[in-house]
Amino acid sequence: MNKNLTHQQLEAKVNLLEKKLKQSDLLTNKSFKDSKDSYFLQTLANTLPTPMFFKDNQGVYKNCNNSFAEIIFGVSKEEVVNNSLFDLAPYIPNELAKVYHAKDQSLLKKPGKQVYQSSVNCADGLVRIYLFHKASVHDRKNNVVGIVGVMLDVTELENQKLALQQKSQQLEMYSATDPLTGLYNRRKFNDIFVTSLSIAKRQTRLLNFAIIDVDNFKSFNDHYGHMAGDNALILLSRFLQKRLLRADDYIFRLGGEEFGLLFYANDEVSARGFSNKIRQGVEDLAIPHFHNDNHQLLTISLGIVTIKHKDQSMAAIYEQADKLMYKAKNRGRNKIVSLVI
Ligand code: GH3
Ligand code: MG
Ligand code: MG
Repeated sequence: MNKNLTHQQLEAKVNLLEKKLKQSDLLTNKSFKDSKDSYFLQTLANTLPTPMFFKDNQGVYKNCNNSFAEIIFGVSKEEVVNNSLFDLAPYIPNELAKVYHAKDQSLLKKPGKQVYQSSVNCADGLVRIYLFHKASVHDRKNNVVGIVGVMLDVTELENQKLALQQKSQQLEMYSATDPLTGLYNRRKFNDIFVTSLSIAKRQTRLLNFAIIDVDNFKSFNDHYGHMAGDNALILLSRFLQKRLLRADDYIFRLGGEEFGLLFYANDEVSARGFSNKIRQGVEDLAIPHFHNDNHQLLTISLGIVTIKHKDQSMAAIYEQADKLMYKAKNRGRNKIVSLVI
């Protein structure tokens, strides 16, 4: 230490130390009343619309700004100071007080900073979302003496975030589904087919792909009108959707009166059985179709491939299913034709 300090230098040093001491005690009520700086800080704190508080290590509020008292509890600052969360029972439910207390305890045990988001029932009856920034406060011997906290109102931001999320989910939904039937569209089919093929490689179950085409649908429209045609497609789609057995089975509207079905089965026999049940189920819907050859009801034809050789391209599998579907048409419609490939 420099022993040659002048009296003025020593006095300046003492002043500086005193100032530092006061600053470290700024958050206690006493110094807020005493010091000019603290008066300035307290005025500043009271002007801020952001709730702020200081509580000691027993959880007793030792200071806060007006916003904290008014927005959160709806009382004056004096009614908050020297009370704990549990003393403020008329304004804060016991269960919530316990939650906040637990947060405080974890910060006191592990001093430093704590940031978290929580919804808060405010005095005006509104629930706001606050981002809490809290930090432990230490005395000169580094003992933890309390906690300071600032609460940022992020309600608006969170609401905007939620609205954006909903909008993007909606957009994603629109881009993946067909507006008439609500089924996945061809774009989604392209994605899911590729994924299903790569998953199928690792499975003992067999992946199957069926192309489903409504029989003589042009005549249906011509006879009953386009609106009736639309309604028939909606009914059919609902039926197909309901027949899916597993979470990884999918039905798509590939275009017009053509649908795609991706489904798993243990073997080709059960794949055929499932497809045939679907064909029969559509007939059982008993939608009149006067000009459907000799069937009189709305029917479908299916071309089904059971994919045993898993390295085939999507295009090849699709083409094969399409060919089989046309075979079913040629065999008199309301038929299934299947093949293991
Ligand atoms: P096939 O048994 O050989 O499949 O005969 P089809 O008449 O069903 O086949 P075609 O391809 O000649 O006609 C398909 C018809 O499907 C023509 C079209 O008007 C109708 N269609 C396609 N999409 C829609 C739709 O969204 N709504 C309605 N109402 N009709 C549709
Ligand atoms: Mg058709
Ligand atoms: Mg067609």
